Amino acid sequence: MFDKAAFAGHESVHHFFDAKTGLRAIIAIHSTALGPAAGGCRMWNYTTSDDALVDALRLSEGMSYKNAMADLPLGGGKAVIWGNSKTEKTPELFRALGRAIATLNGKYWSAEDVGVSVHDMAHAAEETKFVAGLPGKSGDPSPVTARGVFLGIKAAALRAFGGDDLNGRHVAVQGVGHVGAYVCGHLAKAGAKLTITDVNQEALAQVAKDTGAGVVAPGDIYDVAADIFSPCALGAIINPETLPRLKARVIAGGANNQLSTPDMGEKVKERGILYAPDYVINGGGIINVAAEISGVYDPAWVEGKVQRLMETLGEVLDQAQREGKATNRVADAIARQRIGR
Ligand code: NAD
Repeated sequence: MFDKAAFAGHESVHHFFDAKTGLRAIIAIHSTALGPAAGGCRMWNYTTSDDALVDALRLSEGMSYKNAMADLPLGGGKAVIWGNSKTEKTPELFRALGRAIATLNGKYWSAEDVGVSVHDMAHAAEETKFVAGLPGKSGDPSPVTARGVFLGIKAAALRAFGGDDLNGRHVAVQGVGHVGAYVCGHLAKAGAKLTITDVNQEALAQVAKDTGAGVVAPGDIYDVAADIFSPCALGAIINPETLPRLKARVIAGGANNQLSTPDMGEKVKERGILYAPDYVINGGGIINVAAEISGVYDPAWVEGKVQRLMETLGEVLDQAQREGKATNRVADAIARQRIGR
C-alpha cells in the first residue's frame, strides 16, 4: 500500500471482513487534520482487491480536498465495499458495515455514494451513529449540490464572458440524474438554452419536457456548439479524445473526477477553456451532510456555506488567471495548504 501512487500519506487504512454477510470493505482515512474524516460509501464490483484499495485511497484524498475547500470542520475519508451492488446488497451487509464504522469511534463519518442508497445506509445507521445523509434527516444532497453548481456556472461565466447573466447562454449538460436535472431546472429558469443527454431515456424525456431542452445522443454531447459544458454524469470525461471536440469556453458541472488525469488541466487551459475544479463546484452536497453531522440542521447555514464556496471558486479561477496556471492545480495547492500537506 505504501508504494502505491494513490497512497498520499493516508493516516490509516482499515480492512474489514465479515464471514456471515460476506462483507469485504475498506475504509481509508486520508486526513483528520480539520476534523473527523467524512466521505460516502461506494459499492463497486472491482476486479481485484488492489483496485478497491486504490479507489478508496484516491477517493478519501479527494474528500480531504473537497471538505477543506468548503471550509468544513471535517477531514477526508471514504469507504468502499467490494461487491456487486445489483445482486449482493442485503440489510445485513450494511449492518455489518455499520459495525465496521463503529469500531473507528467517530474518526470516520459515512454517507451514501455510487452503488449505495440512503436506505442502505439507514441499515448501517442501526449499528452506529456515525452515518449521515439519512432519510428524514438532511436527506438527498443533490438539490444543494445542484444549487452550488448553478452558482459556480455563473462564477465561471463571469470570468469567461465578462458577465454572469445566463439568459440566452447555451449550456450542454451531460447527465440529467439527481444533480443534472436540478441544474437544468436552475439554468432554464435563468433563461439558458439547453442541450442535454443521458443514457436513461426516461429521465432525458422528462427533463426535456420540463425545461424545453434539446436532446442529443450520449456520444454527441462533446460536439455541441455550446458556451458552457456541464458534466453531471461520469468521471474522466475530459480526456485526450473528448477535449479536442469541445466547443465550449467553460467546463462547469457536478460530476466527480472530471479530468482523466491532472495534466488535462493544463491541456484544457491551452485550449482557452475555463475549468471549474470539480471538487470545488460540487461541494454543496457535503455541506448539506456536514450540517447534519453538526447536530443542528440549519438550511440558512447551508446556503451561506454554498455561497461562500462559490466565492472560493471565483478566487481559484482568478488566482489561476493571474498566475497563468491550470485551475485544478491552484485548487489542489489551496486545499493541501489548508490541511497542512
Ligand atoms: P445519478 O446517478 O442520479 O445521475 C447520473 C446520470 O448520468 C444518470 O441519469 C445516468 O443515466 C447518466 N449517465 C450515465 N452514463 C452516462 C453517459 N455515458 N452519458 C450520459 N449520461 C450518463 O447521480 P447524481 O447523484 O446526479 O451524480 C452525478 C455526478 O455528480 C456523479 O459524478 C456524482 O459522483 C457527482 N456528485 C453528486 C453529488 C450529489 O449530491 N448527488 C455530490 C457531488 C458530486
